[in-house]
Amino acid sequence: MKHQSPVALITGGSRGIGFGIAMALAEAGYDLAINGMRPSQAVSESLEKLRAFGHQVIYCQGDVSEADDRKKILAQVRKDFGRLNVLVNNAGITSPDRKDILESQESSFDKVMAVNLKGPFFLTQDVANWMIQQQQETVAPNTPNYTGSIIQISSISATVPSINRGDYCLSKAALGMATKLWATRMAEFGIGVYEVRPGLIATDMTAVVSQKYDQMIADGLTLQPRWGQPSDVGKAVAMLASGQLPYSTGQVIMVDGGLTLPRL
Ligand code: NAP
Repeated sequence: MKHQSPVALITGGSRGIGFGIAMALAEAGYDLAINGMRPSQAVSESLEKLRAFGHQVIYCQGDVSEADDRKKILAQVRKDFGRLNVLVNNAGITSPDRKDILESQESSFDKVMAVNLKGPFFLTQDVANWMIQQQQETVAPNTPNYTGSIIQISSISATVPSINRGDYCLSKAALGMATKLWATRMAEFGIGVYEVRPGLIATDMTAVVSQKYDQMIADGLTLQPRWGQPSDVGKAVAMLASGQLPYSTGQVIMVDGGLTLPRL
């Protein structure tokens, strides 16, 4: 049987942290399904950079917070690849108005929860069922072993409060429980479920607050005195996806330069 590259679906994979993850997985030999909100014309440059590694790359436009879009995204992956080995739930938004929790609005809360929590939870549900099916199909003799993993990109905000982004912090804390739930459910099928918690990573999301954090980093906020880069997160995800931590399902990997390490 002809060797097929493993396939990874990365939500929000055309820029920022998701693109860093996509680059690392492309380098590691994966075929890629990249999801995002923007139309395909807007992401062609990113897709070309990924294709330069020599693997197949498709774009699945869609909003992960919408059930119909999630179905459409997975239908496209099924049609173009017919298989899926890695899901990276990376797409996310910060609190739209960054308002103090004494004033923040329900509309912001609902939006953040829909994109950062509901979307990844139900996308994982659909993917998990497909992974179980793929795993069971390979139990037959002479079929190659199936390997699958699910990786959530949460945040240090799962444990570090920011009072002007309460909804964001809550969404990431709940994503932490989603990791534990899915790790528990998928263990019997040999599917590892992991969580990566980035700290301050230089992307469009943090560009608006870069001066504030430049100063905090200079003042010693992180042990490693620099911004994190999308490639830092990409390396962690590639390690997890390749099965380098085979006895650690449900665990959290911090990619925060030591920001959350308590010190005296
Ligand atoms: P970013 O630069 O703002 O990029 C966000 C990506 O998510 C974009 O590709 C965007 O698609 C996609 N996206 C947003 N809403 C979507 C939706 N409803 N459906 C599908 N795709 C959607 O953000 P980032 O900094 O790379 O953050 C990526 C993830 O890491 C997020 O979950 C974020 O919470 C987390 N994180 C970031 C930091 C940080 O310091 N940057 C730290 C900790 C955790 P388009 O490109 O099409 O707009």
